[in-house]
Amino acid sequence: MWMDEKDPDVLIVGAGPVGLTLANLLGTLGVRTLVIERNAALEPEPRAVTLDDESLRTLQGAGLLEAVLKDVVLGYGVQYHDWRGQPFAAIQPTRQEYGYPKRNAFRQPLLVRTLYEGLARFDHVAVQFGHSFTSFEQDEEGISVHMDVGGTARTVRARWLVACDGGRSPVREFCKIVLEGETYAERWLIVDLAQRTVPLRHTSTYCDPKRPTIRLPGPRGALRYEFMLREGDRDDEVLDERNFREWIARRVPADRDLPLVRKVIYGFHARVATRWREGHVLFAGDAAHLTPPFAGQGLNSGIRDAANLAWKLAALLRGSLPESVLDSYEQERRPHAAALIRMALRIGRVMQPKSVLGAALTQTALRVACLVPACRDYILQLKFKPKPRFSQGCFLPSATLTATELAPQPWVQSPAKDVRLDEVLGAGFSVIGWDAAVVREAALNVTPRGLCTGQVVLVRSEDDFLDIPGDDGTVLRVRDASGELAALLARFDASALVLRPDRYVYSVVPKLA
Ligand SMILES: Cc1cc2nc3c(=O)[nH]c(=O)nc-3n(C[C@H](O)[C@H](O)[C@H](O)COP(=O)(O)OP(=O)(O)OC[C@H]3O[C@@H](n4cnc5c(N)ncnc54)[C@H](O)[C@@H]3O)c2cc1C
Repeated sequence: MWMDEKDPDVLIVGAGPVGLTLANLLGTLGVRTLVIERNAALEPEPRAVTLDDESLRTLQGAGLLEAVLKDVVLGYGVQYHDWRGQPFAAIQPTRQEYGYPKRNAFRQPLLVRTLYEGLARFDHVAVQFGHSFTSFEQDEEGISVHMDVGGTARTVRARWLVACDGGRSPVREFCKIVLEGETYAERWLIVDLAQRTVPLRHTSTYCDPKRPTIRLPGPRGALRYEFMLREGDRDDEVLDERNFREWIARRVPADRDLPLVRKVIYGFHARVATRWREGHVLFAGDAAHLTPPFAGQGLNSGIRDAANLAWKLAALLRGSLPESVLDSYEQERRPHAAALIRMALRIGRVMQPKSVLGAALTQTALRVACLVPACRDYILQLKFKPKPRFSQGCFLPSATLTATELAPQPWVQSPAKDVRLDEVLGAGFSVIGWDAAVVREAALNVTPRGLCTGQVVLVRSEDDFLDIPGDDGTVLRVRDASGELAALLARFDASALVLRPDRYVYSVVPKLA
């Protein structure tokens, strides 16, 4: 790892999962990056347990897919149980539009370790532990960041600072930026256990007003119980193993005596920072938004921030895009992060019924709704999750591109093997389309100069890889075996699409009349 005295281009405060994801993405893009972390080592707290399909796609882009997947159980759903313990609704999505199942079980400390180890690939990225951010001053050129290193003051000069320093973000506090929203009175006891003996594919959520409870599987036999606490519950009593092991035994007797990994009480917040940028300072992850854990989306939102920021910072540091590209960061990310917070709150209302009557009404309504196939599909397939889509930001709007969205990632076929689409797109802007000349021209004229890394011509699912006259080998050809890319091009009435490095549609090359 790089440890010399040269100034970094980007200084990241916080070696949590968001800071380390951003550092890996910047590393793959060749950006000199320094991460400072106040603690002496990585955070061992097992918080997040659900990683979504978009996050896995981002980690694929960071070149860490295989390393991450070794600690992930792909594809798990949720079974909701009513106040009598009977199943009444389920979320078990089967579609994999971004290349992966929509819900995957993982453990945060294992991911953080993998992300940290991933940085060893780059001699232009370093992490320095025991470095605590204290203050900064900035000018037109960049920012001077002051930190405390074991009682000694140190200053590092950088072009950009990204605050990934968590919910209490000292950087955000220093900027006097407010987190608007609410903190809720409900508190939950989280109990992590190991060496599970009973198979468990899907999360069981018991929407029981007496004691709302969640039982979640994890990789390598991990098991988590979450119990909602009631008014009057005393911390010392609920944290007493004799009590919570009784609660566990009431759900699944075989789980009762499993080895305890950790027990902790959490409150929850639904808050968003009023500004995500302050000159040369940007905020990402929990520093920018706090999501209630009911939808398992807090960290996933933070990974989306990292994916959105990394290529913009890299392009502007190379001089390929103007500084104004950073204004699109909050414009694009804030509405989506806020929509996921609202979704988490709605799920929380179902999961935390206040009375048997309230539970019976909500659960009966959901049970009846699930009798209608379209409603059942809406819930089962997680269609209520806000789409990665935005109507304002860094893209070229046109008649058919009024709002941009994350392009799907189907498997495509090259003559040699099947691969996920992103593997043939490269790390920069890319063009996919039907015609080599159109793709080449779009790569030259529509993508920001010097930023195009992938030119891909699609072969229809029913066609072979017949040599095309005039094919000069600058484009790659892959077969759209699933027909998903044909459907995407048709939906935008396009002969080709330009994708951003984070795989959102940047512009549409219309069909020739
Ligand atoms: C019980 C629970 C369950 C959850 N479940 C899920 C889930 O299933 N899925 C999901 O997506 N999310 C979930 N979340 C949310 C998820 O854990 C957080 O969103 C995630 O940890 C945020 O990552 P981060 O990197 O932004 O911040 P953090 O993980 O808080 O990391 C911030 C880092 O900054 C460092 N730091 C702070 N101050 C300084 C300073 N002055 N100088 C230097 N470094 C500093 C800290 O030491 C820390 O290492 C859950 C949260 C909880 C509490």
